[in-house]
Amino acid sequence: METNDYKKNLLTRFLHYVSFDTQSKPSAKHSPSSVGQMKLAQNLQKELTELGLQNVQVSKHAVVTAYLPANCAELSHTIGLIAHLDTSPECSGKNVRPEVIENYRGGDIALGSGEEFISPAYYPFMHQLIGKTLIVTDGNTLLGADNKAGIAEIMTALEVLQQGGLPHCNLRVAFTPDEEIGLGMQYFPLEDFPCDWAYTFDGGEVGELEYENFNAATAKIHIVGRNIHTGYAKGKMVNALALACDFHQGFSKQDVPEKTSGREGFFHLNHLAGDVEKAELHYLIRDFNAESFVRRKQFVQDWTAKFNAEKGLKQPIECVVQDSYKNMYEAVKKVPQAISIAEKAMEICGVKVIHKAIRGGTDGAFLSANGLACPNIFTGGYNFHSKHELISLEGMEKAVEVIVEMVKLKK
Ligand SMILES: [Zn+2]
Repeated sequence: METNDYKKNLLTRFLHYVSFDTQSKPSAKHSPSSVGQMKLAQNLQKELTELGLQNVQVSKHAVVTAYLPANCAELSHTIGLIAHLDTSPECSGKNVRPEVIENYRGGDIALGSGEEFISPAYYPFMHQLIGKTLIVTDGNTLLGADNKAGIAEIMTALEVLQQGGLPHCNLRVAFTPDEEIGLGMQYFPLEDFPCDWAYTFDGGEVGELEYENFNAATAKIHIVGRNIHTGYAKGKMVNALALACDFHQGFSKQDVPEKTSGREGFFHLNHLAGDVEKAELHYLIRDFNAESFVRRKQFVQDWTAKFNAEKGLKQPIECVVQDSYKNMYEAVKKVPQAISIAEKAMEICGVKVIHKAIRGGTDGAFLSANGLACPNIFTGGYNFHSKHELISLEGMEKAVEVIVEMVKLKK
């Protein structure tokens, strides 16, 4: 591959994309939740058109889609390449002023004026980045590598393919809004995006290939009490708050996010509110394994029934369990090439594959649940959603190389 030109363009593109404030708004009901996302979408539409892609569209919800037909008869399958436009609501993405550090020599990096810093003492992965070109923040905002690195990598790979006339299968590209607030996928034009499989480029360190994530559900518990003046309450008052505390005692003290990792599932009490008259408890239910996920959901229902019977409540506690998303592996295992081709491409590029199970959901999980197998691939970034976010240019280059290799492999 011709190297130097595309590397310069990759960095220039990335720095341009992070200049758009595309922070998503958690309270939003509609997508895109911020105008910056539409501006970036329109900018990408122009660039994709200039790169010679076909059917380049931006929907009113800021979903960018484009198509590049195969240029080689043996490569008749279709791969989707996906990244998201928005940045996390957890940290400002306005006036991002990235700093480029060439040939990182190890040790602490002062951010901006130096009040904030990043240190290998806290982030041991920084040791692996010695000698690389790092892009960091000025300590006031996030960087936006999540997920503008993914966008820059896909755009640059398209440029390399087009300019070099390199062989590739059919490619569909999508840049989507509001991933961070879980809204973007509701307007994804799945019927107009037929692919054999797709990838999101939204992972972290070089080599990450993720195709398993949690099965997820929520449980909402509604408790009704009865309030009586405390002086005359004996035998009459039903304190909803006290019932809520008792109810929670039925849950495992070990199966909680703060005590689990890897492939372990959990129950997470993430909301408790109320007064004597009424109380609400909300739980997140998470498990990688489909059967134990079902058992966890059943546990909440069974415990509610048992609690109601034990307390002899006139007004029984109500429990509503709702599925949120599914482990994408259920869909991905039906399309094993989605994994084998990515692994092969990484191998060709000298990248050691790191298999990780995502302790959360992704847009790929949504797509997979709707029939489009969609594993997640690394971007090369670290410390997402934070002022300490950083990425190496070499990591981004690897992602570009992996895309270019991947799309020329036979199915
Ligand atoms: Zn992301």
